[in-house]
Amino acid sequence: MGEESLREKSLPVEEVTDEIRRLVDAMFDTMEEKDGIGLAAPQVGHNIRLFVVGIESQRFIFINPEIIETSQETCTMEEGCLSIPKIYEAVVRPSKVRVQFLNLEGKRKTIDAEGLLARVIQHENDHLNGVLFVDRLDEELREEAIERFNKKQENALKKRLQKYKRKG
Ligand code: ZN
Repeated sequence: MGEESLREKSLPVEEVTDEIRRLVDAMFDTMEEKDGIGLAAPQVGHNIRLFVVGIESQRFIFINPEIIETSQETCTMEEGCLSIPKIYEAVVRPSKVRVQFLNLEGKRKTIDAEGLLARVIQHENDHLNGVLFVDRLDEELREEAIERFNKKQENALKKRLQKYKRKG
């Protein structure tokens, strides 16, 4: 999972080709392997406007998505991200969205989403614009989350080094 690609604005998919369909398959595999419910192409090193969602046994594919309407009403849900392991924070976002996108046949579709689906769509759509969920937190919470993330990385590194020392 390439780090640098997470902060870039992704480019539209020009044509829905077999290559794109293969990428979608691979993304579902990666997402399900890691017990995720959404995965955006930039998270797997492709800076194109595409993400997949899997909620319960339902699969959704969004190519060149555009959120064309959001509800005034907001809600708070805990979010995590496969690219920011082990950090979970409550994020406020609109409760409902209307999203336009292309499907795997390259046909334009529109859906109205609410609940968890609306939440995942907004989280994944942010990835296409180089935005991470921690950017949506209050400054204080955000710094705390990043600090905790860094500390976890540090501890993981220390553990690995200790193991190495014992072995060596
Ligand atoms: Zn994410």
